[in-house]
Amino acid sequence: MSVIPEIIADKDELTAWRRDIHAHPELCYQENRTSDLVAKRLESFGIEVTRGIAKTGVVGTLKAGNGNRAIGLRADMDALPLHEKNEFSHRSRHDGKMHACGHDGHTTILLGAARYLAKTRNFDGTVHFIFQPAEEGGGGGRLMVEEGLFERFPVEAVYGLHNAARYPQGKFFTRPGPVMAASASFDLQVTGRGAHAARPESGHDAVVAAAHVVTALQSVVSRAISPFDTAVVSITQIHGGDAYNIIPEEVQIRGNCRSYRTEVMDRMEATIRRIAENTAAAHGATARLDFRRGYPPLINHARETEIACDAAALVVGEADVDRNGTPRMASEDFSYMLEARPGAFIFLGNGDGEGTCDVHNPRYDFNDEILPVGASYFARLVEMTLAKR
Ligand SMILES: [Zn+2]
Ligand SMILES: [Zn+2]
Repeated sequence: MSVIPEIIADKDELTAWRRDIHAHPELCYQENRTSDLVAKRLESFGIEVTRGIAKTGVVGTLKAGNGNRAIGLRADMDALPLHEKNEFSHRSRHDGKMHACGHDGHTTILLGAARYLAKTRNFDGTVHFIFQPAEEGGGGGRLMVEEGLFERFPVEAVYGLHNAARYPQGKFFTRPGPVMAASASFDLQVTGRGAHAARPESGHDAVVAAAHVVTALQSVVSRAISPFDTAVVSITQIHGGDAYNIIPEEVQIRGNCRSYRTEVMDRMEATIRRIAENTAAAHGATARLDFRRGYPPLINHARETEIACDAAALVVGEADVDRNGTPRMASEDFSYMLEARPGAFIFLGNGDGEGTCDVHNPRYDFNDEILPVGASYFARLVEMTLAKR
């Protein structure tokens, strides 16, 4: 039980790779430099490379022995549209772009595992190293699946990893079943009849109707969703009117929903529509809902979750693997890969010391200390599942 010594020996180099990627962040489907760097490194390890899946996506394929089993390991490569506030030397060179979700670390971890596995080949079968673009809102995971990822690179299971902000350094957690939420965004257009502020009786006040709609929507979760399910409806914007003496004709309400089950999301959508339309109608106004689904919930498969935790325990010990961790309300497009194939997503603590912040914060930075831990996890996962007979 330990981090793999050959990978620890590579730590300085892995750190340099990670900081180089951090300094050169690229947004959704623009990961040209990053994917080129990934492809060239994989080739230098003697790994067969396929480029251009989902635009900038890259798959590296490594075979050892004669076994016909195969697994997939996935990392994401994209950064966020955010202005970095860190001052260190590897800070973003590109204003308004930043690796604030640690995907620089995920890419480096998978490269580290690939290098070790290509060198040692202590397994029997095939590993596909999947480097996907556009996780942050662009659905790169979905596009890879749609472009035939698993038909071209068949796998019996696929595994992903995300760093966990403000979680103890080098500790793992995950759980079987739902581990990250589905998300949806919505617009509600409330339309009344405009009037002079002094003569409300001559119109239908869209502001008052919208205010009642916002209040009424607070009962969606408490009255329409089972207490055994998790759901969130948040109103995040209200816009309407631009004068003191005019009752506006239209008000825009915007919001966001989260759940761990598609059926719950269906029910939230239907309930929001019914409550908004009828509440607005009570005030002589109309409400029109535009409900847009984001990523589906990320559901870990039970058997593969156990395998993932076993591999993590080989690296950090059972005491530092929480096999029944708390799910996260954020969403992730690795969910599309887990809809297509069995597999599991695991979190690796980025550290919870003084001054640490959450992902998507302009001061976030991936912790280089966990690079060898993550790379060892993927390496052990391969050696364990595709064990030589
Ligand atoms: Zn993110
Ligand atoms: Zn992320």
